[in-house]
Amino acid sequence: MPMDLSRYPKNWKAIALQIKEAADWHCENCQRPCRRPGESWDELEKRVENNWKVYEEIDTEEFGVVEVPKFNRFTLTVAHLNHNPMDCRRENLKALCSVCHLRYDARHHAHSRSGNQLRRRETVGQLKLFS
Ligand SMILES: [Zn+2]
Repeated sequence: MPMDLSRYPKNWKAIALQIKEAADWHCENCQRPCRRPGESWDELEKRVENNWKVYEEIDTEEFGVVEVPKFNRFTLTVAHLNHNPMDCRRENLKALCSVCHLRYDARHHAHSRSGNQLRRRETVGQLKLFS
């Protein structure tokens, strides 16, 4: 889902960059290294080569074992731990790789999705069971 920047402070990109720099471009949950803006795959590979596998081997029927970059696992994001995008206190922000961020938010998304569906139904005229 694309990010709605209108829900964030105007200087959100600068705040997020500061959090990512402070985490040295590593996920603060799983410690996975993530790509810096403009960093090429070669540069990332050199930076982390002894500690992390940048490529994974996939066994294919046609070509045998091939090495594939783990693209999605190397994007660093910044999570609001209380899910309030306007609350940018340092203790509420955490640099997380996209996988850890999705897992962290999964429960919140499921809860807000059911709440949004209920609000949409009420907007189009469905009566409330409880008020
Ligand atoms: Zn992670």
